[in-house]
Amino acid sequence: MTKTLLIKNARVVVTMDDERREIAGGAVFIRDNVIVQVGPTADLPQQADEVIDAANHVVMPGLINTHHHMYQSLTRVIPAAQNGELFNWLTNLYPIWANLTADMVHVSTLTAMSELILSGCTTSSDHLYIYPNDCRLDDSIAAARKIGMRFHAARGSMSVGQSKGGLPPDRVVEEERAILKDTQRLIETYHDAGRYAMERIVVAPCSPFSVSRDLMKEAAAMARSYGVSLHTHLAENANDIAYSREKFNMTPAEYAEDCGWVGHDVWHAHCVQLDDDGIYMFARTGTGIAHCPCSNMRLASGIAPIRKMLDQGVPVGLGVDGCASNDSGHMLGEVRQAMLLQRVGYGPDAMTARQALEVATLGGAKVLNRDDIGALKPGMAADIVLFKLDQIGFAGALHDPVAALVFCTPSNVSYSIINGKVVVRDGILATIDLPVVIERHNALARELALATGA
Ligand SMILES: [Zn+2]
Repeated sequence: MTKTLLIKNARVVVTMDDERREIAGGAVFIRDNVIVQVGPTADLPQQADEVIDAANHVVMPGLINTHHHMYQSLTRVIPAAQNGELFNWLTNLYPIWANLTADMVHVSTLTAMSELILSGCTTSSDHLYIYPNDCRLDDSIAAARKIGMRFHAARGSMSVGQSKGGLPPDRVVEEERAILKDTQRLIETYHDAGRYAMERIVVAPCSPFSVSRDLMKEAAAMARSYGVSLHTHLAENANDIAYSREKFNMTPAEYAEDCGWVGHDVWHAHCVQLDDDGIYMFARTGTGIAHCPCSNMRLASGIAPIRKMLDQGVPVGLGVDGCASNDSGHMLGEVRQAMLLQRVGYGPDAMTARQALEVATLGGAKVLNRDDIGALKPGMAADIVLFKLDQIGFAGALHDPVAALVFCTPSNVSYSIINGKVVVRDGILATIDLPVVIERHNALARELALATGA
């Protein structure tokens, strides 16, 4: 039986359609999980099984998070990892993460997804690259199903430990055969290539400094044989570049190309230190990047040249990155930081509020290789968020409510609709009991820190 949903009387509907229309007094009509009509309220059907009055709200496409490590929500603000750069930060955290369990993965994924959904995100990727004890990616996927988030689950991996010249301790790395076998199992069990898919698997060795060249190449071959996407970390900071130069005698972009890691089915996190040749090559090949401004500031990695990448046509999405290096998973807050950080690097007109929102919607969809999310128009998935405007943070900013979302205090949603289902209603998550999850999450975070003496 079909179900219809009408969102009407919006202060403004931000469509992100081909003309980037913003419709005052707009409405969206949904049948099941798909958008049927978008336009002025008077032009749309007046009846539906459920009607949401969006007076005094901005209605927009759900934001898309292209980089995260949700388990890290258990290790926010670890004292020993508060003030280091990437490699120092990692070596302080690996021993803690070595005690991670399946239960911790499941609960922290629920926590991270709750924070994302409440802050306007409807689709997220997650890069889980450490599998100690009984950890499996299946526990992340189960959490996504429970909360109702559209999910690109990246099967990460590390195989080069310290004894082989890598950064992670040997006890947290896996055998390469086992990595590939588990990746194949996950693709065959969960990957949905269809339109409006709620679950996709991504092949995602962690970084050039934690896996071998062989694994990079075999991962690419496996991903392409199944038609799934590839994801890793690249060119994050100066040490990352130095490692690539020393170990491979190549820039990170050259190494990625050498391993077959370029194309519209590949996206790399960070790319803060991607050189001009790398930018041109990414543009030419349609290789995407996940921009993570808070993490880049937190670890003092630098300012990614996003303005230049966009001008050259590189697909750019936005990512909050893991909560050990942000330590916020607020998606609209990340949009704000993306806008502000480009200005610090490249001038006050380097990124507008609307451009930042576009990166977080259409940009993210492109990076994840999808054409069914990121905009409100007929035939798109019904992933829609509503932000209430009569809040203290927006007082005095209502002459431009769309820009206000980005310039003013990052707000939480009042409604979130994911795949046609109301997941947040009146600011409350409808699919899980959030206070119970937070309590459990805090108990597990304490357990994890105590196990390591952190
Ligand atoms: Zn990351």
